[in-house]
Amino acid sequence: MVNSVFRDTGTSVFETMSRLAAGHGAINLGQGFPEGIEATEVIAAAERALHAGPHQYPATLGLPVLRQAVAEANRRFWNIDVDWETEVLVTSGATEALADCFFGLLEPGDEVLVFQPAYDCYGVLLRRAGAVPVPVRLEPPHWELPRQRILDAITPRTRAILLNTPMNPNGKIFSRDELSFLAGLLERYDLIAICDEVYEHLTFDGQAHRPLLALPEARDRCLRIGSAGKTFSVTGWKVGYVTGGAKLLGPVSRAHQYLTFTTPPHLQSAVAFGLGLDDGYFRGLQDTLQRHRDVLAAGLRDLGFRVLDCASTYFLCVDIRDLDREGDDFAFCRRLVVESGVAAVPVSSFYAERDMNALIRLCFAKPPPLLHDALGRLADWRERAGLAA
Ligand code: PMP
Ligand code: GLN
Repeated sequence: MVNSVFRDTGTSVFETMSRLAAGHGAINLGQGFPEGIEATEVIAAAERALHAGPHQYPATLGLPVLRQAVAEANRRFWNIDVDWETEVLVTSGATEALADCFFGLLEPGDEVLVFQPAYDCYGVLLRRAGAVPVPVRLEPPHWELPRQRILDAITPRTRAILLNTPMNPNGKIFSRDELSFLAGLLERYDLIAICDEVYEHLTFDGQAHRPLLALPEARDRCLRIGSAGKTFSVTGWKVGYVTGGAKLLGPVSRAHQYLTFTTPPHLQSAVAFGLGLDDGYFRGLQDTLQRHRDVLAAGLRDLGFRVLDCASTYFLCVDIRDLDREGDDFAFCRRLVVESGVAAVPVSSFYAERDMNALIRLCFAKPPPLLHDALGRLADWRERAGLAA
């Protein structure tokens, strides 16, 4: 017996590529997780909290100290006034937060606009909630908001827009003008927006993230989701948070209480501590990741790879059309692991139709020596394949 949604999903592309990398002793630039930049002061805070306790179920909305810290971070970084008691929910990661939003707010048959490329769990969780994901494509290399396509996709059954900014896998940061356009749609068509902003702090070159929730016209129609995994480089912790108006957050909290109910208390207190770190921490994280991006991007370009621009996140996209004669990015990534010893992720897995085969994604959130090692392996591979630049 299997639910029809999961009958067709198989193993996630991230897990698949990580297993393949481990099996071939490859450098894993596939699944997106940082190495060597974990926030040590936040880990120390978790250690202290683990010893001090308590160890029993925290309140289902989250520890007050973390909800207060999330509200304060919204004010400090994004100039959004948030009532910590009614407008913040702590979840076990952004993934659970997304599920809570879908399960708590949507009815079977509700249509949700999903921008593609789209993170893999969106379609699966939406369909399991009975909703209908309606893909709206952004086009490389600039990934501009396709305004006419959005208008064409809206029907009387459209209820929500799912927005991921900064965006995985292309590192796009939606502009103020694009956000204003989306905010206008919320009012005009009576929609809500669910905003996955897990990469809110990982932006480069002085470019800043902007939450849709910060626009006054979107304030009551929008929920924004963050993840401590990304902000403190501890992706295994699975601590997330949802911020938004009490009317929308209420049903989301009810879904949360029946999914996980709560999140480990020592991790919650450590994340509260982390959100209070001074600006130097957040700037340092951006500077470090920007340097790592530059190492990988420059190295790949020197080798002759066609690297797309990247303003945020952990990821670079590389155009493989000159390398992959078969037009199958999945097969190309499988071959690359075996032949070069470097794992990447095929970008077609971010498309419901799996028909976008031109790009692969590489994670640069790694120590520079490891990135140089990966570049060396790719240089050897190009040499052997007669593709040297
Ligand atoms: N959204 C996006 C866009 C992601 O890339 C990820 C992957 N980390 C998540 C959500 C999941 O976040 P978490 O690990 O906090 O569940
Ligand atoms: N978000 C990570 C990525 O994009 C993967 C997380 C996961 O494996 N579930 O690579």
